[in-house]
Amino acid sequence: MKIKAIVNSIAGICAGVFMSSCLIAEENSVTSRIENPPVDLIVYGDYVLTMENLDSANNGIIEKGAIAVSGGKIVAVGPASEIEISYDAIKTISGDGRILMPGLINGHTHSAMTLLRGFADDLPLMEWLQTYIFPMEGRFVDKEFVEIGMRLACLEMIKGGTTTFADMYFYPKTAVDTVDECGMRAIIGAPMIDFPSPGFGGWDDSMKAGVQFVQDMKAKAHPRITPAFAPHAPYTVSPEHLAEVLKAAKDEGVPILMHVAESPTEVEDIKNRYGKRPVTHVADIGMLDHPMAAAHVVHPDEDEIKMLAGSKIGAVHNPTSNMKLASGVAPVPAMIEAGVKVGLGTDGAASNNDLNMWEEMRMAALLHKVTSGDPTAMPAGDVLRMATSLGAAALDMEDDIGTLAVGKRADMIQLTVDRPHLTPLYNVISHLVYAANAADVVTNIIEGKVLMEDGKVTILDEASVIEAANKKASEIKAALAER
Ligand SMILES: [Zn+2]
Repeated sequence: MKIKAIVNSIAGICAGVFMSSCLIAEENSVTSRIENPPVDLIVYGDYVLTMENLDSANNGIIEKGAIAVSGGKIVAVGPASEIEISYDAIKTISGDGRILMPGLINGHTHSAMTLLRGFADDLPLMEWLQTYIFPMEGRFVDKEFVEIGMRLACLEMIKGGTTTFADMYFYPKTAVDTVDECGMRAIIGAPMIDFPSPGFGGWDDSMKAGVQFVQDMKAKAHPRITPAFAPHAPYTVSPEHLAEVLKAAKDEGVPILMHVAESPTEVEDIKNRYGKRPVTHVADIGMLDHPMAAAHVVHPDEDEIKMLAGSKIGAVHNPTSNMKLASGVAPVPAMIEAGVKVGLGTDGAASNNDLNMWEEMRMAALLHKVTSGDPTAMPAGDVLRMATSLGAAALDMEDDIGTLAVGKRADMIQLTVDRPHLTPLYNVISHLVYAANAADVVTNIIEGKVLMEDGKVTILDEASVIEAANKKASEIKAALAER
């Protein structure tokens, strides 16, 4: 930075923000090299969608913008012309023909279930769970299964632009090690269920293991991984046990992940057992006042929507899974209108059958239009918020992720728009919801670390991840054939 002409334009920035670093001797002259603050990374975008000020005239989009990143956090957001003269970056990533935006947040999945992708389709939820999924998991799910399946899931999510996910599955310690290796951000829930399951013999075991897991993780204070308690659902965990989980979650200060009000069968079951609907049941246990990401929430009634709106519970919408298992249509427009924090998730790959948040966004945008008969229902901006800023709030993580703003964690992605199906570009928000695909994502950055660049994943060896998954699947196939 030795050019006199730029001094005036940066002087204001230096004066306001980092005077100590700017060696400007006197007005309009440079006596020595101006040392800008060093940053790890500057990422550019022809369109920088911050997801802040989405209601403003330009949707909060900075054309020809850039983001500076240091120590895993965003330190500056603004026009590229200002950012590049204000910081010296170790690395830069071009934004030519690209949209830069917050990474997508998959609010509900069971990532290791990628290994059961396409294993049993076209069945009702309870039959699918009880005849296929639970017995298969009992037989095949071990630490190796979780490691291989989760690595595959992380590869798929990194390539598709997801940066954070909330996971409920078995062997949470193995899950933590795998997420740590894959570089993603995640909430990992310790699984808890009333009957024997992979890794534990019953409730007491799972409760004890869950508390131990959460305490160990808190001691580690991992920058990307948040521990949680993950009781399966109100129909598989008794109210006494849910109260026990709630107390432990409060004591430890960690969130809860749970399926809630997913299917009509669950609603009937809970009504028969406890004389009330699932959300009311959960509320009566006292769970409204503690952060919880409730997956599905397909069947809250009007009063229950009001309860959720005033609560610390986020509702994670899983439209593909709900359609595939014919669980019903969640009243998402009404929940958003009421002020419920609504996120978006894929559910596991056995009920989706992929972890593609772009597809999930499009399903969310379309499903509610056709079922309400209202083409203005679920506009693209609302859907995009569910996958980013509102999705972060649903996970109680809005202080850290979900928008591109100074002080937030540097979780962001770039998509190339230089493609036939994205040409011409009138409206970035519309394109992202109605036309973009996972394959358009070319860059994935989490906690300031570049995990994929120019479409190539750098954190994992793609071929070996796929090979290991195929090998595991052939073992499962062989065992099934023997049966
Ligand atoms: Zn689920």
